[in-house]
Amino acid sequence: MGVFPLLMAQEHESVAFFSDGAANLKAIIAIHSTRLGPALGGVRMRPYETEEAALLDALRLSRGMTYKAAVTGLNLGGGKAVIIGNPTRDKSETLFRSFGRAVESLGGRYITAEDVGTEVQDMAQIRLETSRVVGTSEEAGGSGDPSSVTALGVLAGIKTCVDVVFGSPDLKGCRVAIQGVGKVGYRLAALLHHQGAELFLCDAVAERAAAAAHAFHGYEVKEQDFFALPVEVLSPCALGGVLNDETIPRIRARIIAGAANNQLQDELRHSQALSSRGILYAPDFVINAGGLINVYSEIEKTPKALVLLRTEAIGETLRRVLTMAQAKRLFTYETAHRLAEERLAAMGAREAAR
Ligand code: NAD
Repeated sequence: MGVFPLLMAQEHESVAFFSDGAANLKAIIAIHSTRLGPALGGVRMRPYETEEAALLDALRLSRGMTYKAAVTGLNLGGGKAVIIGNPTRDKSETLFRSFGRAVESLGGRYITAEDVGTEVQDMAQIRLETSRVVGTSEEAGGSGDPSSVTALGVLAGIKTCVDVVFGSPDLKGCRVAIQGVGKVGYRLAALLHHQGAELFLCDAVAERAAAAAHAFHGYEVKEQDFFALPVEVLSPCALGGVLNDETIPRIRARIIAGAANNQLQDELRHSQALSSRGILYAPDFVINAGGLINVYSEIEKTPKALVLLRTEAIGETLRRVLTMAQAKRLFTYETAHRLAEERLAAMGAREAAR
């Protein structure tokens, strides 16, 4: 095991490995912080090449969840789980029930939900063993798939960025390219089309890009052309690590604002690279918080209208981040971290005073 995951694990409150041969389960649950509340974060299922890669993903994603909840003003901590397995081949009720028992064994410090590779029906199987799961179906009393709300938040964030850079939030005629038209990307494309934006769509599964291009009168583009597109906004809505040494020099857009988690391969170095090219980056954990707001409503029993109001407010949170970053000459992701850390520190001070 490399030193980096071990160092990063020290920042976390706990990291637990679960192995159940009979259920074919190999999972990791990382709890970064419970300072603001129970650690909520989805369970990602991927055929990770190594256990170290799975651990690193769980550690990075759980830390991101702490910051996301803190900056969004939710009373939640940060955690994340990963299941090492192929979501198209290895899913079974036995596996998800075993994972549900793993979640239950943490006594409520961690609450799970869907993420890349897992879906609402998987949550129903987890629910058979634990009540610490959100994002179950609406018929079962849950909040359902959070992707529509995530897309609404990303739309609010894009409008803020366009307003800051071009002086008006009007998206009519604005060229937006979306990488990944899956659960969030497709819904975002629908919302942007409704606002009059001109769309460029790509997906690793070509039929998805073609279907979205057809539905929203957009252009289907090849994966390898995405970063060099002559558009105003690039919206990464597939996987993380896409802003890196290879892609950044090719970018012609003024704004990067998308749903994917952990878009910057190296937070500091690649923020610097974007900033030196005059490209505005909307920190992913600020702009993609709609899904978390939606699942949080299951815990808080919040009405849908409040969920939508809070999601709309992502635009204002992002504006605060962008304004402060400009005033203090900080990178946008750094500023968002600071705002989150201020809230975490204030809560820590209150607890210490008790
Ligand atoms: P998804 O799996 O439904 O969609 C991802 C899409 O990206 C798929 O269609 C896939 O084929 C495509 N894709 C993968 N690699 C690609 C590549 N290199 N180029 C182009 N397309 C590629 O996932 P989702 O739920 O839409 O989530 C997308 C991203 O947003 C993820 O990073 C996820 O962590 C993040 N996110 C999702 C939510 C949510 O509510 N679903 C909330 C917050 C953050």
